[in-house]
Amino acid sequence: MARIELRGVAHAYGPAPESDKDWALRPLELVWQDGGAYALLGPSGCGKTTLLNIISGLLRPTRGQVHINGVDVTAAPPQARNIAQVFQFPVIYDTMTVSENLAFPLHNRGVGKAETQARVEEVAALLELTPDLRRRASGLSADMRQRISLGRGLVRKDVAAILLDEPLTVIDPHVKWLLRRKLKQVHESLKVTLVYVTHDQVEALTLADQVVVMNQGRVVQAGTPQELFERPADTFVGYFIGSPGMNLLPCAVEPDGAVVEGQRIPLAPEVCAKAKADGGELRLGIRPEFLRRVREGTPASVRVEVTQVEELGRYRIATAKLGAQVVKVRLPEEERVAAGESCWLEFPAKWTTLYAGGRAVS
Ligand code: ATP
Repeated sequence: MARIELRGVAHAYGPAPESDKDWALRPLELVWQDGGAYALLGPSGCGKTTLLNIISGLLRPTRGQVHINGVDVTAAPPQARNIAQVFQFPVIYDTMTVSENLAFPLHNRGVGKAETQARVEEVAALLELTPDLRRRASGLSADMRQRISLGRGLVRKDVAAILLDEPLTVIDPHVKWLLRRKLKQVHESLKVTLVYVTHDQVEALTLADQVVVMNQGRVVQAGTPQELFERPADTFVGYFIGSPGMNLLPCAVEPDGAVVEGQRIPLAPEVCAKAKADGGELRLGIRPEFLRRVREGTPASVRVEVTQVEELGRYRIATAKLGAQVVKVRLPEEERVAAGESCWLEFPAKWTTLYAGGRAVS
């Protein structure tokens, strides 16, 4: 098993650029514990694959070191790292059967026939490939091919870590959830360190114990799914995670409150003072799930006008105008509201965050 440590790792494709923002990966420090399940989450082009390839050894970082179990492997080739990597598109041999494909990584390492067969059967059962073991890989559906590719990553028992780069992109939506669950089971039973790259928050939040959110080559926050949801350290995390994302309302700050479109929300004086000192654009953040509809004005509530209501089964999302700004609120089934109505929305102090220059003030 593997403890993975990245020390000052940074990468540029080509000569090292002068400007910080032109690096594909800006300097970062990360420690991933043995046996943990980690997700790298961020939009396209933010550096996830670059980081994954640096860990597996496919790419040598421009700066910094990679340590696996305390050993500096920065210059070591992939085959010396004992790491399995599963890519976005299946990597399998069309001329082989499903069983031969699954067995391939074991043959390569001289594992005996009986053990190979046992491992292949175990992995095939896990990924629901047992009935297809004798079929040739060519002509199989995209999601079956990716299941084989996953199986090739999982079949080695000695593997220290499994790195998965958006492996469910080509999988049929109705079997995606099943594979997500299977992957979680595999991780729990093998206790192998798992790093999962995705731009899909549902995949990241359901699979990982810890999620690393990246944007523009930088790690913006690393935390448990709950921490990322409840305490976004950065406006990008607030907006990127959640559906819909966090409300981030431009505001002014007073000694003991924030003012949004002329309406005041009380805040702790030390937070207000710090926000002023930190500088940068000020925004008041609250998730649609944490705004509360109240019957009449309270000191921490604002008056809004509902413009749209989306019915989503057991709950509804209302969009409302707060002056010139737009606020989204998630309301339970029993909270009826219609477009055109005015209502009061309360900002519970526990769930209200002030951001200065994009970072949470605490
Ligand atoms: P995606 O989700 O689209 O795969 P990503 O988050 O994995 O994106 P990377 O593929 O790591 O992002 O890319 C990070 C940055 O590096 C991007 O600006 C990308 O254009 C650039 N980049 C990636 N690979 C190369 C390459 N081989 N040569 C030059 N630039 C590259």
